[in-house]
Amino acid sequence: MKIGVLGAGQLGRMMAISGYPLNHQFGFSGNSNDEPSALLGHMFALEDNADNIESLVAFADVITYESENTDVEIVRKINKDIPVYPGEKSLFTTQHRGREKALFDQLNIPCAPYQIVNTLEELQQAVSKIGPPAILKTTTEGYDGKGQFLMRSEDQIKEAFDSMNGVESILEGFVNFKRELSLIAVRGIDNDHKYYPLVENTHHDGILRLTIAPAQNIDPEVQKTAEHYMQTLLDEMDHVGVLTIELFETNDGLVVNEMAPRVHNSGHWSIEGADTSQFENHIRAITGMPLGDTSPTHTVSAMVNIIGKIGPTNIALNMANAHLHLYDKTERDNRKLGHINITANSLTELENSIQQLSDFLPN
Ligand code: AMP
Repeated sequence: MKIGVLGAGQLGRMMAISGYPLNHQFGFSGNSNDEPSALLGHMFALEDNADNIESLVAFADVITYESENTDVEIVRKINKDIPVYPGEKSLFTTQHRGREKALFDQLNIPCAPYQIVNTLEELQQAVSKIGPPAILKTTTEGYDGKGQFLMRSEDQIKEAFDSMNGVESILEGFVNFKRELSLIAVRGIDNDHKYYPLVENTHHDGILRLTIAPAQNIDPEVQKTAEHYMQTLLDEMDHVGVLTIELFETNDGLVVNEMAPRVHNSGHWSIEGADTSQFENHIRAITGMPLGDTSPTHTVSAMVNIIGKIGPTNIALNMANAHLHLYDKTERDNRKLGHINITANSLTELENSIQQLSDFLPN
């Protein structure tokens, strides 16, 4: 099939790399021919011609996207001609933190207490109910911790409000978590579901730096609970493709933070660490192919992000159990340039391998 991707970043690039062996073709819409996907398919660069979305749609049999910030109106329009997966409901819900949390509430999925805030008075009222400590976030377009203010005391109400620059925001109670986890799953057009194991994520300055897969010391009941939340969400949104949920592990169980209607950075380990990667499974799902096995290929795997600077990648190339993935991006502070996957047959082997890659990790 011909797959059109709205976006042309590293996620589209890795979708294409996994989709070619299945005999699919790819087209991308992006802002320039320099983007990470540009050489991996037909590029419909928006800077040349605003009508290029229409050309992408004319090229494609099915459309998918790389970001929850994709314009819902565009998706609605495309959907009149060809299918867009994940569908409009998944996109509309996940691009707004308030709608996402309302759905969690509706489905009895635990999340932090929250309130939508538009004015200083509303923020004062929300703080009197929820916090501090609490986090004020923009309701839309936040990523990698951007658009967030951690409020430690009531003295910071005005400062927090001003930092949002007048855009709608949401106050969330601070969750005292032990670890950050995520769950990735895929749902096919025929309603088949497959789940990857819960993974553990470590962030620095709001950016994911390290994923351990599977997360260690997870009670099977906890995996089951996470899968139950996931299944409820997949079915409610009639989701087709990969869905990711980010969770906090607390002393009182799992609390869901947010979700993304797409392949996710915390699933990159699956390229070598699982029988079928998240990218291949997303492509299989949206093209109506049977879903692939999600079992881990090794006892434990890890993903180390390459952020800002490419660094000494020969270290990884000289390791038998490390796999380098670069995205063809130029170096810039805090930019995701690539990642290194490690596969291991024991936790000790994994820890030693991560140690060898310490140049890529903060501290
Ligand atoms: P987000 O953009 O919602 O994923 O938030 C970025 C990071 O901020 C998360 O990965 C957490 O480390 C932290 N964070 C977000 N929301 C909360 C919360 N309600 N309580 C505690 N930490 C949070």
